[in-house]
Parts: sequence; structure tokens; C-alpha cells
Amino acid sequence: MTRLPGRLVLLGHPVSHSLSPRFQNAALRAAGIPLAYEALDVPPEALAATLLELAGQDASGNVTIPHKEAVAALCVRRSPLAERCGAVNTFWHEDGILVGDNTDVGGVDAIARALLGEARRSARVALLGAGGSAAAVLAAVERWGSAHVQLYNRNMERARAVASRFDGSVSVASSLDEALDGAMLVVNATPVGLRDDAFPVAVERIPRDAAVFDLVYRSGETAWVRAARNAGHRAADGEGMLVEQGALSFERWFGIEPDRNAMWSALHN
Ligand code: NAP
Repeated sequence: MTRLPGRLVLLGHPVSHSLSPRFQNAALRAAGIPLAYEALDVPPEALAATLLELAGQDASGNVTIPHKEAVAALCVRRSPLAERCGAVNTFWHEDGILVGDNTDVGGVDAIARALLGEARRSARVALLGAGGSAAAVLAAVERWGSAHVQLYNRNMERARAVASRFDGSVSVASSLDEALDGAMLVVNATPVGLRDDAFPVAVERIPRDAAVFDLVYRSGETAWVRAARNAGHRAADGEGMLVEQGALSFERWFGIEPDRNAMWSALHN
């Protein structure tokens, strides 16, 4: 195992509903690591000062909404994936230097692999949304080989802006129907369905053989994932991605694999 950090934190605002402390603390206990994972509520205006203090404590951690892009900009070194996404969700210090990585991409990849297996490598993907998590999906897909994304976002300017960073593996769809045409995988990277049972796409419009991946997670799955599965689609909500990105962060911090079963149990008990 690599040297232990002085502190392990999650930076977000607000962080009160975050599930990460539950499963990260379970992973720490299972590995016998004498650290506690703490959620820090950091308003944007306090981010730079907080990072300075954390550098003095040799801290490692995660970053969530709304700080992923700001932390990426403040890192002295970024992994190629963090560079590609323009966002950091995992950080640590090396000789006092802030280093950032992005394990959301690996989280997306793990779920797509579970849903499609090797077929993902040439999949046509309908992606809804053009924010930070959509960029992580695009960064995952561009590594699959000949897969292609049809990106749809209600704000077309924003869709074009993110697509221009991933030229070649993505085109911007001018309508939802265009995005869905021929899709083998339909991905929701918008917050639709987070606070209520709204669907990002009516289930009848999902191509018959397509799998469904909802980045949103709620206790007991999202209504969209339940409805899609009932209609015969393979479907996963964002909980698997959440645990997987956390597991990959754990590997970056400690150089060992966490006990994923302990992480899952912590979420469901
Ligand atoms: P973000 O950067 O704020 O982007 C949100 C995107 O959703 C934007 O493209 C926005 O469109 C679109 N959108 C927002 N409200 C909408 C609505 N009512 N109808 C249609 N489109 C709408 O957010 P993000 O960081 O990408 O996160 C998106 C979702 O993914 C969040 O709900 C979060 O829970 C989930 N997520 C899950 C994980 C995980 O580990 N499972 C990780 C990251 C994020 P405009 O550009 O038009 O505003």
C-alpha cells in the first residue's frame, strides 16, 4: 500500500445528501485503514483556501458538484483523463503538489461493459445532456474504438461546445428522435428523474434492442430505469457508476483494490 494521506475528504456544495462517505468508510474499515472519509461542504468562494489548507495536511479525496472543473484548473498535474474531461473528481498530493484524476470515466466504462460487453466498442450511443458528466461519457466512448455518440441537449450551443472537444466520435443531434435513431445504448446525463419520477425519454421511444443507462441514482432505482427494464430493456441507474468511480478513487489513493461488496452493503443496509 502507498503512504497514507493525512486526511481523506469529499469536497462539494452542498454535500449533505452524498452517499460517498457511507461506502468509502466501509471500504476503509474493510481494508483496515485507520482513516475516516469526511464530507466537507465548501462554498465556491472558499475552495482555493480549503485546498491550500488540505495541501498542508497532505490530504487526498474526491470532488463533486460544483467544484470538479475548478479543482481541475487548480491542479498542478492532471491525468490524461482529467485533462480530457476538464474535470477532476479524485485528487491527492505528491511532494506537496496537487494532482487530479477523473474516475467518473472508468465508472461509465464499467457500467457500459456490464450492459453491452464487447458490443460497446462499435455501439451507437444516444447521449442526453452536455454537462460535466456528459463529458465523462464522451471520454469513455472515444476509447472504445469505433463507437459513435449522437448527443442531444436542450441548449444546442452547449451541445456543440462539448462535442467540439471530442471531434470524430460524436455528432450533435438536432432532435431527440435523431439522437435515438439506431441507438444501442441510451444514456441520461441530465438531472431529469433526480427529484421526481420524470423520464428523460418516453420508454416507447427507446429503440427496441437498446440498453438504458441512467446516470441519476435514487434510493430504489429511478422510475425510468424501472420502466425501461419492465419493457424488456437491459437497464442500470447511476448507483453502479457511483460505487465504481469511488472504488477507482480508492485504488488511486492507496494502491490497492477496495472491497466492492463492503461498499455495496454499506449503501443497502
Ligand atoms: P451539469 O453539468 O449541470 O449538466 C446538466 C445537463 O443536463 C445540461 O446539459 C443541462 O442542459 C441538462 N438539463 C438540466 N435540466 C434539464 C431538464 N429539465 N431537461 C433536459 N435537460 C436538462 O450536471 P452533471 O454534472 O453533468 O450531472 C448530470 C446528472 O448526472 C446529475 O443528476 C447527477 O446526479 C448525475 N451524475 C451521476 C454520477 C454518478 O456517479 N452516477 C456522476 C456525475 C453525475 P442545459 O445545458 O440546457 O442547461
